[in-house]
Amino acid sequence: MIEIQNLSKNYGSVQAVKDISLHVPRGELFCFLGPNGAGKTTTIKIMTGLLRPSAGSVRIAGIDIRTDPVEVKKKIGYIPDMPYLYDRLTTTEFFQFTGDLYNMNRDKVLEECERLFKLFGLADYRNTLIKDLSHGFRQRLIYCATLLHCPQVIFIDEPLIGLDPYTIRLIKDLLVQSARDGMTIFLTTHILALAQDIADRIGIILNGKLVTLGLLPELLEKHHEKDLESLFLRLTNREVDGAN
Ligand code: ATP
Repeated sequence: MIEIQNLSKNYGSVQAVKDISLHVPRGELFCFLGPNGAGKTTTIKIMTGLLRPSAGSVRIAGIDIRTDPVEVKKKIGYIPDMPYLYDRLTTTEFFQFTGDLYNMNRDKVLEECERLFKLFGLADYRNTLIKDLSHGFRQRLIYCATLLHCPQVIFIDEPLIGLDPYTIRLIKDLLVQSARDGMTIFLTTHILALAQDIADRIGIILNGKLVTLGLLPELLEKHHEKDLESLFLRLTNREVDGAN
């Protein structure tokens, strides 16, 4: 479903992504891990059509993001780490605006608004201006709006930042169930316990390079580590120490 081929991205002299190739099949929940500045957000921004790669290609559902970005955008959803919301719209207006962007039927949008607002505990905030929502409720609204057009693939940069335990459980269950239902999920997180809990496969990126990729039990066995935290710390310290 996601095919990344020899992807590289330079910002001037900074090589943020170095020759990454990766295939994420339909229905996989893939966790992309790496220390600060490793190249995770850059990779996601290329996959979502927000940045052009310096080299290589990305295909989503068989469509090249460079040659047909609009078709790809119809099929994907993206939750950035710092989403932009229109503060002077109400939650319902924002939801309808999102539906309009995807050319969706208004009745269908209202139906989904009812269902998703209920699911995310936003039903009592239908007429609230976005500027008056707390951080966690803004995040919930982003999830609602991202799921509105039933994307085949979603990209999430740090899915749980600032959420309360109830919402964390809700999002985790939703992600696992959505992947079981066939949605492909590509997420980055610094919360290793989250990756350990929900990932089908894990990839670790360091200094722009994919340093390991696989199922967690396979990776632990291969690198003789007991848990994801020790694996992550070892693999990401090595190169910093120059030993890799
Ligand atoms: P974090 O976990 O801190 O969010 P990340 O893995 O998402 O980090 P990126 O944001 O992709 O990392 O950054 C990768 C590298 O590219 C870093 O060295 C960063 O400073 C650099 N970088 C990112 N955006 C730009 C930009 N617009 N111009 C120049 N350098 C950039």
